[in-house]
Amino acid sequence: MIRFASLGSGSAGNALLVESGATCLMIDCGFGLRETVSRLQRAGRQPADLTGILVTHEHGDHLGGVFRLARKYALPVWMTHGTWSASRETDAGLDLRIIDSHRSLTVGELEVLPFPVPHDAREPVQYVFADSRHRLGVLTDIGEITPHVRAMLSGCDALVLECNHDARMLAESAYPASLKRRIAGRYGHLENSVAAALLDQIDCSKLQHLVAAHLSERNNLPTLALAALARVLGCEEAWIGVATPECGFDWRELQ
Ligand SMILES: [Zn+2]
Ligand SMILES: [Zn+2]
Repeated sequence: MIRFASLGSGSAGNALLVESGATCLMIDCGFGLRETVSRLQRAGRQPADLTGILVTHEHGDHLGGVFRLARKYALPVWMTHGTWSASRETDAGLDLRIIDSHRSLTVGELEVLPFPVPHDAREPVQYVFADSRHRLGVLTDIGEITPHVRAMLSGCDALVLECNHDARMLAESAYPASLKRRIAGRYGHLENSVAAALLDQIDCSKLQHLVAAHLSERNNLPTLALAALARVLGCEEAWIGVATPECGFDWRELQ
């Protein structure tokens, strides 16, 4: 049975937990050591419970806390070669495992399926997690949807899906024009209506959980993201979760 929870989500830091049986993977860690441990405790876990850390890409809100946590608790860390080289870190004291962005790997009781995404990082990936019964798809930090992304996320039982910004709020925000172009660009972040359109393009017939994630605190509102997603799925807005910067979201379980 797959369980998942977020310790926090957004440009200030991200960390997601995915479990099956005794396997507990952390996906990204954008928080400092003490903050990570206290957020883990809030989710009922300790660093010693972690099987390892999977990294999506080198941006600070995802990688910022990874190496200290991994070294302190002797955790293996998986990432692509491009993410590793962009991190400019040395591998001393690290159990580093370089992954192929198109090749699945098995970690304990979870099958991990990485897939490449267009984002302004060196070799960014996102992940699908599978056990014998279910699939959880995770997609944040992506500028535009590709056919391969649609194929990977189709038929998932749960999705954590980036709803970064609302197009109008971003356009009207005080951000400099260059930053607006970066965020809205093909290697930037997903806009609410584009995230919603993805749901229309993939098989959502098995979907038990949908959580909107990586919301911009300045250029989005949970109500706008929920309305966009619910409109496409024809569901109640309350059925969809929202990951917050402070608390992420509580454990959800696939039945
Ligand atoms: Zn990010
Ligand atoms: Zn990023």
